[in-house]
Amino acid sequence: MGETVFLFFVAFTLGLVIGSFLNVVIYRLPRGKTVSKPAFSFCPSCGNRIKWYDNIPVLSYIILRGRCRHCNSQIPIRYPFVELITGLASVFSFMKTGFSVDYIFTFFFLCLMISITFIDIDFRIIPDQLNLIGFASGIIYTLFRNDFSLVDAVIGSLTGAGLLFGIAYFYLKLRGIEGLGMGDVKLMAFVGSYLGWFGSLFTIFAGSFIGAVAGIIGAYFSGSEDKGKFEIPFGPFLALSATVYLFFGDTIKEWYFGF
Ligand SMILES: [Zn+2]
Repeated sequence: MGETVFLFFVAFTLGLVIGSFLNVVIYRLPRGKTVSKPAFSFCPSCGNRIKWYDNIPVLSYIILRGRCRHCNSQIPIRYPFVELITGLASVFSFMKTGFSVDYIFTFFFLCLMISITFIDIDFRIIPDQLNLIGFASGIIYTLFRNDFSLVDAVIGSLTGAGLLFGIAYFYLKLRGIEGLGMGDVKLMAFVGSYLGWFGSLFTIFAGSFIGAVAGIIGAYFSGSEDKGKFEIPFGPFLALSATVYLFFGDTIKEWYFGF
């Protein structure tokens, strides 16, 4: 019992620390800055270096009451939020797999989904590096999986990227505007390498459905004149659906093929 609590604590702490790194990735990668240098964090408002004791995930935010020690400017709540959900992602990965090779790949998948979600929200792009490293990790993971082969991964990628590319193509032909970016198509190649063909289909259909509902609600509350023009990024909905499938794929499959 005590040991289990300790392992949960380790998983959560590890997730918080990596979440702190994801904030750096989310901030620097789309701005064309390197992720590794400089190794310290700086306040985006005053440029002062943030000391290690002011950079403790979640805790520092609470102690500093969400403000920079030097210039008193507000630290976005997004930073501790990303740390917190990464902490939870690590805990859920641990619950699913225990500490194992599966944990590493499951948690890595979720870290990429979190980074992709927030970068897409901020910049409406999904960096190629993240999709590529995700796809590569999915392929490498097949070396360790018993129930999922390299062929499953490749078919999954082709299904996901192919279907979404087809949808994007016809959408462009029909409406003359780009509804989906190539970033979303590449994201599906990454997702497919982990989830296979059925997981790819689920991710696209569930993502489209949740995205459409969110779009309608968003357009309604945005009160914009031209409701057809209300735009939301698609990546976060794909990431959310893929995450649901990663954890509940077996149940979803059973339920679907049970009919
Ligand atoms: Zn500052």
